[in-house]
Amino acid sequence: MENELQCSACELELTNEDEFCPRCGSLFDENVRCFTHPAADAEGVCVICHYAFCNECGGFVNETFLCNEHEHYEVLQSLAVVAASKEAYIIESLRNTLVINGLHPFLFSGLNSPSVYLATNNYNPQNALDIAVYGSGEIKILVPFGEVLEAENILNSQEETPGTD
Ligand SMILES: [Zn+2]
Ligand SMILES: [Zn+2]
Ligand SMILES: [Zn+2]
Repeated sequence: MENELQCSACELELTNEDEFCPRCGSLFDENVRCFTHPAADAEGVCVICHYAFCNECGGFVNETFLCNEHEHYEVLQSLAVVAASKEAYIIESLRNTLVINGLHPFLFSGLNSPSVYLATNNYNPQNALDIAVYGSGEIKILVPFGEVLEAENILNSQEETPGTD
């Protein structure tokens, strides 16, 4: 018999081993302490870095727990924005770089409902490519929470390399 568990906050399906919800950062183990304040009870787990923190070191933003270092991320369900631009060619180039590096970027034009993009749990790169719909506003690149730090590293190293065409 399999036990069906759900996060009480966001209703994500969980396994019995989960100590926190990977989508919203809710902590299920009451004995976890803050990573920086071992005397303080942790209130949540940052969905980006997966460290547990107290209320002083992090907090829920749009129902997602982020630590102070990562609270600037704009999050949409289990994705976070890692780049934004009004120039489609820049976004296209950054997205290709992420795909080549094995990540699974999603594009969001801001003009369409995110539910269109997030209906699938399938982080297949081909899906990400099919999802390219450009609006006239700022286009955002989002990646699953687990890929945010890697995506930042890749994008940062891109910026340091001068274009030599
Ligand atoms: Zn949750
Ligand atoms: Zn964090
Ligand atoms: Zn703390």
